[in-house]
Amino acid sequence: MATSSFTKKSLGLESVEPAVTPPPANAGTSFLKKPKLSSAKSKKKEIPEGLWVKCPKCSTMLYDKELDENLKVCQHCQHHFPIGARERIHSLVETCSFEETDAELSSVDLLNFPSYPEKISSYQKSTGFKDAVITGIGKIGPHKIALGVMDFSFLGGSMGAVVGEKLTRLIEAGTSKGLPVVIISTSGGARMYEGMFSLMQMAKTCAALGYHAKNKLAYISILTHPTYAGVMASFASVGDLILAEPGAMIGFAGPRVIKDTTQSELPPGFQTAEFLLEHGLIDSIVPRKEMKERLVYYLDFFSHAQKQMAAPG
Ligand SMILES: [Zn+2]
Repeated sequence: MATSSFTKKSLGLESVEPAVTPPPANAGTSFLKKPKLSSAKSKKKEIPEGLWVKCPKCSTMLYDKELDENLKVCQHCQHHFPIGARERIHSLVETCSFEETDAELSSVDLLNFPSYPEKISSYQKSTGFKDAVITGIGKIGPHKIALGVMDFSFLGGSMGAVVGEKLTRLIEAGTSKGLPVVIISTSGGARMYEGMFSLMQMAKTCAALGYHAKNKLAYISILTHPTYAGVMASFASVGDLILAEPGAMIGFAGPRVIKDTTQSELPPGFQTAEFLLEHGLIDSIVPRKEMKERLVYYLDFFSHAQKQMAAPG
């Protein structure tokens, strides 16, 4: 995904590739700076598109298929690449146990925001989703749960009326069926194209979680890279248990905005999952490959506690 479109062109030309990239036509003094850049460029050209991905953390070239098999985690430095909602659900739930809910809910352009309908339909085509969250009932280990998983590739995982409504219905289904809720977040925040309607989702989802909690049911929130703004300031930060993936960036406003506003240096590691664990906002950092096992462990704990509460005496 990191490699770009030049590779297709280069495939047939490999044998006639010049040893040194020719200087650009207007390069009057380009000999002063050229060699390093051009050699790096020609090396890159030999990598076929879609087969290899460069790890942004350790710079190792990773075979795409192996990366997929490893749940998009670098085998060398454990960097967690973004993963799609469907792949994530597949990695967590028991085979064939997931029943998707409200899959057809789709956003409308209430505010006549320029280009919003076109954006929605183009993202629907490119991702195959109707909006930025998938919800449904499934089983993790022996536990039936209400599961919501956001996908950053749909308009930055932004929360509009559909994301809020789908999550609220999911939480309400959890409440009425007596199930724990697990929501895996990744989002840039509320969806600006829906203005106030997107901000209302913050209160709506939290109110539904309030009723869920009143029924003494557990809610586990899992924060993945990146989780920001209106999502972080609502349902993502009110879990009975808040987990995060390693290295995830989590916050309200981004670090650059905070730095510019406060005019002060930010501490090292600011807004990383590790920083927030140290400062008490999250309860545990769980590598992606251990997530299922850990969820089973926590769900065991919650269901045991619930049985004890229900027992007479
Ligand atoms: Zn790596």
